[in-house]
Amino acid sequence: MYKVQSLKNLRLPNVFILILIVFISCALLIFINFFTIKILSANRAYINGESHYSKGQKDASRHLITYLYNKDPNQWKLYNEELKVPMGDGIARKTLLKVGDNEIARQGFLTGRNHSDDLNDIVWLFVNFKKVPFLAKAIHEWEQGDNLIDELFIIGTQINAKIQFNSLTADDQKKFLHQISTISDRLTINERNFSNTLGEGTRKIKTLLTITNIIFILIIVLSVCSYYSIMVKRLTISKKEIEVKNENLILVNHELDRFVYSASHDLRSPITSLKGLIEITQLEDDIDQIKNYLQLMHKSLTKQDQFISDIIDYSKNKRKQIVMEPVSLRELFNEAISQLMHIENANKITFTQELLVDEIESDSLRLKIIISNLLSNAIKYADNNKKEMFISIKSYILDGFNKIEVTDNGIGINDECKEHIFEMYYGTNKNKGSGLGLYIVKEAVENIKGNISVFSESNIGSKFIVAIPAYYGI
Ligand code: ADP
Repeated sequence: MYKVQSLKNLRLPNVFILILIVFISCALLIFINFFTIKILSANRAYINGESHYSKGQKDASRHLITYLYNKDPNQWKLYNEELKVPMGDGIARKTLLKVGDNEIARQGFLTGRNHSDDLNDIVWLFVNFKKVPFLAKAIHEWEQGDNLIDELFIIGTQINAKIQFNSLTADDQKKFLHQISTISDRLTINERNFSNTLGEGTRKIKTLLTITNIIFILIIVLSVCSYYSIMVKRLTISKKEIEVKNENLILVNHELDRFVYSASHDLRSPITSLKGLIEITQLEDDIDQIKNYLQLMHKSLTKQDQFISDIIDYSKNKRKQIVMEPVSLRELFNEAISQLMHIENANKITFTQELLVDEIESDSLRLKIIISNLLSNAIKYADNNKKEMFISIKSYILDGFNKIEVTDNGIGINDECKEHIFEMYYGTNKNKGSGLGLYIVKEAVENIKGNISVFSESNIGSKFIVAIPAYYGI
């Protein structure tokens, strides 16, 4: 029983915490991956948009230069068409910065030849992450690019005005060509910076994503491993518990078998001897002999009575709950002595009591069983050959235990028998008892978490000491 208790006391961590960790890690992993993929996809859309921006600006410059030299209105038209691309992106940027997501901004991106499927991601990234360093830096490059596009637009308007009024000179052409080339060169730098900044950001996000994925996967793997190891440990412990319980059951079963066998045997033997005595008494005429037979019958019935009372004690001890209550040791001793005075020679014994402890908190049923059995043994095994027979009873407190001592100067117990006296049905003198008394005493003492010890010497006497905790629940 104690073994099972110690297995139960083994505390294992709560597996629900581990399951919760796995659950939260999985949810975070899905959440982080979802948003990272959204960010990466928006970055890709921006880099794609930048290539349209750059191509539009370059084509516009090319058409403007051609228009500058051949004055073909078709080139002017193409220039305007191409310039709309970077200008559309510029309108989108300014609108997003001022008022956030709206139809004008989205229309601007569409004019900038961005794909309609990318619009949501592009707008979402801008609105939510415009202050994140890498995006803020890219937006700054974009803004500088837009300023140059505005300059290109003004130059285009000037060229067109001069051509319309036929006032374009060769010097003007040279000057405008130089201005367009300078703007184009500066725009190339801005466009490259824009792409590089976004690319750098994308790479950083990718590294971050890889690290977070590894961390969360490690957390999940570790939690799952711990979960399994705890479960395996629990299974091993319950297996051990079942094994211990099985062992205990086998023991109890074995004990019960022995008990039933011996009880039925011991219950029958006095009846058989009674039947025999009755038969021979019927044939007897001598009154003295009949009296003798009647005495033997009485002895046999007393033994039967004692045996039945032992069985009742055994059953009560096994069945009844422990009840802690105030008990007077003095009362228990006096009650037991008066009930045992019928035993042969009891009235020739001198009883002494030295009770330093009287009122204690314990189970009165078990104490009654213990005291009555120890006293009845001390009386039964008194030594008739001694001039003075005595039984001394003591109680005192020592080392946190209430101690009860029953000492006699009876026949004593030899060393060989001493080892067995607490076993079931062990009795050196079958005529005097059932062999159950001390077995029941030991069980009763253990039931109230105490212990019993014996000191005895043949022909000198015996001392039984019962120790029961003075305080329970420590
Ligand atoms: P029983 O019913 O035979 O008395 P117990 O279990 O009470 O059975 O005791 C077992 C044996 O221990 C007894 O048969 C006896 O030999 C011995 N014994 C017990 N108490 C004493 C005692 N006070 N003095 C001498 N022998 C004792």
